[in-house]
Amino acid sequence: MEKIIIFDTTLRDGEQAPGASLNQKEKLEVADALTRLGVDIIEAGFPISSKGDFQAVKAIAKSVKGPVICGLARAIKKDIDAAYQAIKFSLRPRIHVFLATSKIHMKYKLEKAEDEILRLAVSCVKYAKKYCSDVEFSPEDASRSEREFLFKVIEAVIDAGATTVNIPDTVGYAEPQEFGSLIKEIKENIPNIHKAIISVHCHNDLGLAVANSLEATKFGARQVECTINGIGERAGNASLEEIVMALDTRKDIFGNLKTDIKKNQIYKTSRLVSKLTGFVIAPNKAIVGTNAFRHEAGIHQDGILKERSTYEIIKPEDVGFYGVGLVLGKHSGRHAFNERLKTFGFHLTTQQLDKAFVRFKQLADKKKNIFDDDLMAIVEDEIRTTVKPLWQLDSFEVNSGTQITPTATVRLKKKGKILATSSGGDGPVDACFKAIDKITNIKVKLQDYRLEAVTSGKDALGKVSLKLDAKGKTASGRGSSTDIIESSVRAYLDAINKLESKR
Ligand SMILES: [Zn+2]
Repeated sequence: MEKIIIFDTTLRDGEQAPGASLNQKEKLEVADALTRLGVDIIEAGFPISSKGDFQAVKAIAKSVKGPVICGLARAIKKDIDAAYQAIKFSLRPRIHVFLATSKIHMKYKLEKAEDEILRLAVSCVKYAKKYCSDVEFSPEDASRSEREFLFKVIEAVIDAGATTVNIPDTVGYAEPQEFGSLIKEIKENIPNIHKAIISVHCHNDLGLAVANSLEATKFGARQVECTINGIGERAGNASLEEIVMALDTRKDIFGNLKTDIKKNQIYKTSRLVSKLTGFVIAPNKAIVGTNAFRHEAGIHQDGILKERSTYEIIKPEDVGFYGVGLVLGKHSGRHAFNERLKTFGFHLTTQQLDKAFVRFKQLADKKKNIFDDDLMAIVEDEIRTTVKPLWQLDSFEVNSGTQITPTATVRLKKKGKILATSSGGDGPVDACFKAIDKITNIKVKLQDYRLEAVTSGKDALGKVSLKLDAKGKTASGRGSSTDIIESSVRAYLDAINKLESKR
């Protein structure tokens, strides 16, 4: 078997997606999940881009053991310095340098001629090499670069010490056959190519990121750069779960290629990333969408009951998806509750379990049937709130209707003290938010607000994800309850607490 190295860039390219912004704690959470998933390399960020990013990469390099921890840098000394200062705490650091090689990028973006680009690429790889032996080089916009020049750059950076050469389809322009032949030519025409690993990094502007990546593996690419749920700049990156499952499901085509991904962690990791970034997964998304394993048509259901493989090419449990079936109710005990959580891979501390179980019982009083998604919502809430939040909800009351101005009275707890106030608003949620603003005295702007039902039925849990902006600092918040106003208030406080912890 030959291994395909999985280079995950959820925390760099994925986090670059408009509106994603994760805080350091959330990035660490994702890095831990990626480690459990078994990725080989975590591109943890772009350290020069901001102080926050630098600190997050450093924290990941310090605490995450197992995968290579990679930091991105432009072909500029101060970028490479910053990248190394952030990743040097890892046992396995990698510096990833990129420099554009396409005519259009060199002329308009960099305003540099070919020979200057070549010289810069070489000197930066050499510079990075002084810091660490593991250096990756990306000729940005490779798929639109002139091949002759591209090959020259690749050969030169390998001579300079690059151990991985990554071929990005930066703008998602490539077509599978064309991209496969580019990899083939690289393999055939660059004399020292055997000294480096060929990697690919595909974007999804034409919906071809996964197809292009897979095609490249047929011609010698041995590292694939991808993200969970395919998140990333614009239309996103190649999706990790789709690549891994395609290689695994179509062994007849990909033959001797394998990854070290623990497939049963896929669903959970996907949910975590969706939750933390606030990017909802489309129901029909391959592998991880809620409908990905659902069979609605009578003929299909009949087939599935007789023999699953009639309509199912992947067993849902293989990717850690255990269905949305009815699981627990009011009379379920703590043991059953804990056992069910374990099947999702959650291992709670006694304290977390206590708190989650109390929430479960409260929910069971309001809602007859507790579904798996309800459980996940509760537990993820509890896992996230391990640090005692500054502001806690004590209670609230709203008065709303078609003929009156909505008003809300909110009581919050801060360090044991109760603070309460009332406010009017455009609606009950707005009134609550305004009352909270009065109490906390923090000026925030609501940037994004999303409400979704966790399961079906009138008594479903409503989950709110929102984003707040306080003078340019953003934080996301989430909350769930059977009462959508309470979900909103919880989400709002969650974001405010994160802003407070940043201050
Ligand atoms: Zn990219």
